[in-house]
Amino acid sequence: MSNAFSADVIVVGAGPAGIAAIAPLLAAGRRVIWVDQGVRPGGQIWRAGLAQPWARQISALLPHAGLRCLFGHGVIAVEEASYRLRLQNLLEPAAAAVLVQAPQILLALGARERHLPFPGWTLPGVSGAGGLQALIKSVWPIAGKRVVLAGSGPLLLAAADSARAAGAQLMLVAEQAGRAALAGFAAKLPLAKLGQAAGLGWRLRGSNYSTGSWVVKAIGSERLEAVLMSDGRRQWELPCDALGTGFGLLPNTELAELLGCQITAGAIKVDASMQTSLSGVFAAGECAGIGGVDKALIEGHIAALAMLGRSASATQRRQHAQATSFARALAVGFALRPELLQLADAKTLICRCEDVALGELKEQRSWRDAKLQTRCGMGACQGRICGPICQSLLGWPAAATGRSVRAPLQPAPLSKLLDE
Ligand SMILES: Cc1cc2nc3c(=O)[nH]c(=O)nc-3n(C[C@H](O)[C@H](O)[C@H](O)COP(=O)(O)OP(=O)(O)OC[C@H]3O[C@@H](n4cnc5c(N)ncnc54)[C@H](O)[C@@H]3O)c2cc1C
Repeated sequence: MSNAFSADVIVVGAGPAGIAAIAPLLAAGRRVIWVDQGVRPGGQIWRAGLAQPWARQISALLPHAGLRCLFGHGVIAVEEASYRLRLQNLLEPAAAAVLVQAPQILLALGARERHLPFPGWTLPGVSGAGGLQALIKSVWPIAGKRVVLAGSGPLLLAAADSARAAGAQLMLVAEQAGRAALAGFAAKLPLAKLGQAAGLGWRLRGSNYSTGSWVVKAIGSERLEAVLMSDGRRQWELPCDALGTGFGLLPNTELAELLGCQITAGAIKVDASMQTSLSGVFAAGECAGIGGVDKALIEGHIAALAMLGRSASATQRRQHAQATSFARALAVGFALRPELLQLADAKTLICRCEDVALGELKEQRSWRDAKLQTRCGMGACQGRICGPICQSLLGWPAAATGRSVRAPLQPAPLSKLLDE
């Protein structure tokens, strides 16, 4: 038998965007169901604990009578023709599915790392930079290990900072963007961000940071032993125990797609009040466009106001404009160089779930053919990793490929998808 709850608003996501929406909604008397697959609020950035003032605010709000928290629950499906979401309890696998329903939904689903394949990227010891950081934040023992971080964007530095703080030996942080692109990005940063960057730079002083360089190959027989790096003119080998790669972030749009929201440029399409193309459904934060924590916070707040029928103030609109201009600067400053799309060879695995190599995929005409002929994208991640890679490397556009999203959004037992 399933448990069913209803409320005025469902907020999916307890990262910064979801967090910023909760207080205004509760203050206005709305009954809120707050869902996240994580065990506590924080999202990606505050995985190890909320920053102030949010820690204080959220701990004061958690006992609120109007708030039902379903943490440790993942949304796996949308019930036909309604805003009713089906959840599975990830902490108690035997527990029955939970159904939640409300006339309004805020999608604050965040983003995931973008992976690009290169020979050896599936070796044990190689992970996403954010994944490595998440492991470190979950107290994975990294002290004394030789770590290389390679890819692009601020997340590389954040991961480097976490590795350094946990006692890792930082061998190299390799940023693929060139010096000129980075200088252009820095010139557009507001003072507060420059201050944060300077603080990070100070903590990472003495670390080997190189621009215009990238990983070409991960080397090892059973597990990672070294990386082959390139700066376009020369290549060199660097021994290491862990490699974290980060090539930017991709918005999580699957639940929005399942609901029927329009997607634009890979993100959930929203208007100035964060309303999606569906009446009553709003989106905020990384899922509505990559831009970092400040953008997520202000968008969560603006979305909550819009759900209450209120407009954002001039100050809030200005903050949002600043955050979106930072997002644009990020996209330009850390644009990926074309060489990164040429690293995989015919034997390089693209679909890690079903062991499908690039050579096999090049024989296919489309994503659909690839699925039918090779099972690419049919494994546990359901194309979340290899789908975007195929789009980048083989030019198979998402819509034309029929990379349509289907329930369940996460692997789930059949019993969780059916009522008794
Ligand atoms: C791996 C990783 C590490 C990062 N580390 C940093 C960092 O150290 N510093 C930094 O400035 N930025 C970091 N970022 C960038 C980060 O995305 C933002 O700065 C910030 O966390 C965005 O807030 P958000 O609320 O939009 O999304 P998130 O913080 O990602 O929150 C989204 C939440 O939605 C939940 N969710 C998604 N789908 C479902 C579902 N189907 N069911 C239930 N819950 C769901 C997730 O569990 C998550 O808690 C990281 C990003 C990634 C992907």
